[in-house]
Amino acid sequence: MCGIVGYCDKRDIHKDIIDSLKKIDYRGYDSHGVALVSENPAVYREVGEINVENYLEHTKHSKAETAIAHNRWATHGEVSKANTHPFVVGDIAIVHNGTINTSHLSDIFPKIECRTEVDSEWIAQLIAYHHSRYPLISLESSVKYAISFLGEDIGAFLVVDLLCNQLIGYSDGSPLLVSSNMVASDIQAFKDKAKPKRLNSKVMVAMSWDFSSHNNVRYINLGKPSRPLYTSCQEHKEIKKSSSVHGHYMLDEILEQIDMVDRLQPKTSKQEQESFDCLDYLTKGYDDIVFFGCGSSYYVGMLLSKTLYRQGFGPSYEYASEMTITASDISDYPNRVYCAISQSGETKDTVEVAKKLAAAGARVSVIENKEASTSTLSQYITDAHIDIEAGPEYGVAATKSFMATYLSVMGVAKRSRLKDTLSDVYNIYYAEFLETFSRTAIPEYLPHAFFI
Ligand code: GLU
Repeated sequence: MCGIVGYCDKRDIHKDIIDSLKKIDYRGYDSHGVALVSENPAVYREVGEINVENYLEHTKHSKAETAIAHNRWATHGEVSKANTHPFVVGDIAIVHNGTINTSHLSDIFPKIECRTEVDSEWIAQLIAYHHSRYPLISLESSVKYAISFLGEDIGAFLVVDLLCNQLIGYSDGSPLLVSSNMVASDIQAFKDKAKPKRLNSKVMVAMSWDFSSHNNVRYINLGKPSRPLYTSCQEHKEIKKSSSVHGHYMLDEILEQIDMVDRLQPKTSKQEQESFDCLDYLTKGYDDIVFFGCGSSYYVGMLLSKTLYRQGFGPSYEYASEMTITASDISDYPNRVYCAISQSGETKDTVEVAKKLAAAGARVSVIENKEASTSTLSQYITDAHIDIEAGPEYGVAATKSFMATYLSVMGVAKRSRLKDTLSDVYNIYYAEFLETFSRTAIPEYLPHAFFI
């Protein structure tokens, strides 16, 4: 999913926004773009990786206090400059992280002609449509109007009017973090020690500055009336490397598995005891567990099922986006545990399934990488939670998280039947891994080395 970031400040931020965007380039690197609100508004779009010098050269005449930016990981429409966010219609510019069901919109708005196949363009079209018909009412009202047609779980988006120092953000199903002068999909976009708030779903934020330099951050609840508007986030410590050590984040992360493996082993009896508590909780459901996830999370579920099967358990695995669950599946098997796997905690199809299962009263466990996760998924846990502790993973392809998921579950599962100490279990699995890894992966860095 894409990365989005916005600033609304009382100083020129046109350099800061590209720096923040670069810090979250792991979210998508198909293409990227920035819209600068300025006396001389600028919209910059490029395919491929961020080149800060190129951006600064192109935007040097557009000092800006308000801006929005986007790293794209395309879901609808090819990777091209035309399909790159921000989408601009009239003076309205938007960036979007997520997917929208747009099939009904052309029937409702036959006069709107989208220029691209990208679902996100509809957000800009609808806001601009309303704004141009009612130029005297607030941008906020036009955004609300657009939201009323866009449906549920659309992710998160940011909007600006290119001529007005105001920024609006909306989140429904994807994280959006807000500080006094910034909004972003990821905490890594913020400065060190920042403590942004995380908007709850269906909450809109409107940011602006008044003439006496007081910033104004307002939250508008478009969801259930009694829900809090936001939750607090852990303080952000600068954990993101400014660039990869071995030329690719993925390569770094393959090699970081050695440290990760070491870190995963319980070092103190308290840590062992904590693992034991988790274990006792989990084992109640191990004989009937259904792993589900998408992409590599699906494959690690498959691998876990096969290994656990050989050890006498009866797990199964499903692709989240193809799962069908009936009411009788849940009532006939009350001890079944559905175990969602998602390193980010926000894979949309996995979250959807977890949400439906939790609502139907099923036991839902979640395996996620808490440090890297903004935990949309954790809202639906009714059973156990496993934090794989893989550390931040920036490469789009799963490496450390794949291995950590496998080892975390196997450590727990094996111990439950064989009564080993948890450390012993880790040692058995890791010794082979480390041996293979050090023989094959260093120094040649064979990317497949960890699939032992
Ligand atoms: N659906 C949008 C696009 O294809 C956003 C993609 C995303 O959030 O990953 O550009």
